[in-house]
Amino acid sequence: MQCAYLFGPRDLRFVEREPLVLGPDDVRIEIACSGICGTDLHVYSGMIFGNSVHEPRPFGHEFAGRVSEVGVNVTTLAVGDRVTAIPNSPCGKCALCRSGRAPVCQNRVTFRSGAWAPSIVAPAQNVYRLPDTVSDRLGALTEPFACAVRAIDRSELRSGDRVCVIGGGPIGLFTLAVAKVSGASRVIVSEPRAYRRKLAEQLGADRVIDPTEGNLAEVVRDLTDGSGADVVFEAVGTPRTIEQAISMAAPGATVVIIGVADAASQAAFQPQDMFFRELTIRGTKGPTFAVERAIRWLATLDVSPVITHTFPLSQAKEAIELGLSGEAGKILLRP
Ligand SMILES: [Zn+2]
Ligand SMILES: [Zn+2]
Repeated sequence: MQCAYLFGPRDLRFVEREPLVLGPDDVRIEIACSGICGTDLHVYSGMIFGNSVHEPRPFGHEFAGRVSEVGVNVTTLAVGDRVTAIPNSPCGKCALCRSGRAPVCQNRVTFRSGAWAPSIVAPAQNVYRLPDTVSDRLGALTEPFACAVRAIDRSELRSGDRVCVIGGGPIGLFTLAVAKVSGASRVIVSEPRAYRRKLAEQLGADRVIDPTEGNLAEVVRDLTDGSGADVVFEAVGTPRTIEQAISMAAPGATVVIIGVADAASQAAFQPQDMFFRELTIRGTKGPTFAVERAIRWLATLDVSPVITHTFPLSQAKEAIELGLSGEAGKILLRP
């Protein structure tokens, strides 16, 4: 079968590969559709992401599909199940997992192949069944949507809080949607591209701002009776937007960094400002512990406007270029 591999920056190729032999704890899944993640775009463009620098690497990790084969130890899934999966899950055995820090487990259980292919082999512990109320297209959003659910967990958002989301890409849009249903009284979205500002409006943003027009922190303070946002989600990953997030936060606020910054970038803050404003700055990485809740929301919330384009898998490169242009929401691929 033809599987996508990244051989180096901007060098994506389809390679003919035999399907992998199934391990005892694995399942094989025939892919109905897969998604393009923001991190796929970063890695495609050459970003060093974590410690995964080996190439060529199998590409794609967001998808929905149907189980076609189960390993001998697998009792939780059966052939024919409609499923989605997350690319890695905590090992459950290391010191971090055993002390309640599973989301940052360093010994994660991962896919052995990529999702930009007709089928994938995944460890059963990474796989989740989809209800009939979640289509394949929405099911393929599970992993990024669950990242937004976990970002809300990390924010400790309180009912009535005023929220600002910086960045109107798919993760920012999902964070907006989850913040609304999790009790935010007002969600402001900052996004420079008109195309994505429109999507934010469709997803229920109370106010959408173009940050290139004026001082973003001042605008947010004007919209929050002068105090600033109680919770800020940074969903871009640049030093400038991280600094903006800190500057627009209300005293006592929480800033959650969802965006993936380049490994070499540095953001600045004033320690004395941190002291006087008692800000909390938190990272959030991945969907651990949020997947089932994400699937429940996908069954009830209408986030389908976020899916703006669908390409055949063979046109993945064109789809990536569109994603990099920013003139798209979530892009799906069909094998
Ligand atoms: Zn993803
Ligand atoms: Zn672990």
